[in-house]
Amino acid sequence: MATAKNTPRTHKITLIPGDGIGPEVTAATVRILENAGAATGVSFDWHRYDAGADSYAKTGEYIPKALYDSIEQNRIALKGPVTTPIGDGFSSINVTLRQKFDLYANFRPVKSLPGLKTKYPDIDLIIFRENTEDLYAGLEVMVVPGVAQSLKIITKKGSTRIAKSAFEYARKHGRKKIHAIHKANIMKLSDGLFLKCCKTVAADYPEVTYAEHIVDNTCMQLVMNPYQYDIILTTNLYGDILSDLCSAFVGGLGLVPGANLGAACAIFEAVHGSAPDIAGQDKANPTALLQSAVLMLHHIDESAAAERIQKAIEHVYAEGKTLTRDVGGTAGTKAFTEAIIAAM
Ligand code: ATP
Repeated sequence: MATAKNTPRTHKITLIPGDGIGPEVTAATVRILENAGAATGVSFDWHRYDAGADSYAKTGEYIPKALYDSIEQNRIALKGPVTTPIGDGFSSINVTLRQKFDLYANFRPVKSLPGLKTKYPDIDLIIFRENTEDLYAGLEVMVVPGVAQSLKIITKKGSTRIAKSAFEYARKHGRKKIHAIHKANIMKLSDGLFLKCCKTVAADYPEVTYAEHIVDNTCMQLVMNPYQYDIILTTNLYGDILSDLCSAFVGGLGLVPGANLGAACAIFEAVHGSAPDIAGQDKANPTALLQSAVLMLHHIDESAAAERIQKAIEHVYAEGKTLTRDVGGTAGTKAFTEAIIAAM
């Protein structure tokens, strides 16, 4: 480490800028990573790929084979949001990639930033969302005209491994409590199986308090008193919905990062989507992708660069002078990016 500055460690990383606000927040994040890397002896060899509609227009493929190969080789990707058409059109690129690389754990830390005034100060909770099954299995059929069916797939394997991820994390990081979130009163078999697996795993971690809450009650409980939750462990769809809800506690979707973790690969991406309403206007907040990149740096054992960026983010928020519009400021994406670089 002492000679790190002279001999940069180079990481090959697959980069998917995405669409909508994706290219803007990705450009900001890459610029900040390059800066932090230069100061800490880390360099990046970015392998860039389009995905979704942009890729289809250029290559005739929504996810080019070269992109799959790149993730397989590099094992790490940083990804901007890719628009998923609503109602019809191609399947979600985000979901397809998670399933293809079996990225079963979606890790989403929801943590307040200093200085940012929100209705709920000092939030620090984590969502572990199962990432490969449930209603996201994409098994839908029109049974007869006027009747559509979606299959909700819950397996012992999928439920057990996401539960283990959450409990292992709790043990390693000294987190005290895990709530499994479900609707097993109605979906007795599928959510019932999920709960059974969570309970079985919980028995191996007596130091972590385990509780179960029904998802609708959880929404109310979260808004009444989010501080009662430490780690939320849940299935795919509830995890998606609860993530957006929880993002509101800390200032909104512009802030919350995410990691899609599997046994072989990991893809780091923000919780938010492509936000087409503000795309191309220098309005997007890159913090969520930037904090996803911080998770990535920790994952590849580049903690010095990670901490440098995290401290700069906290400094800029604490100062409160150069914030984007979504969190009450007037700065654009570019000005915010420059402020982070200056703070480093
Ligand atoms: P998806 O279902 O694809 O995850 P979503 O329904 O969560 O998408 P988003 O596209 O993420 O929707 O965004 C919802 C709204 O939140 C946007 O229209 C935008 O106004 C705001 N938003 C999301 N991300 C950001 C960001 N990084 N910076 C500023 N505003 C954002």
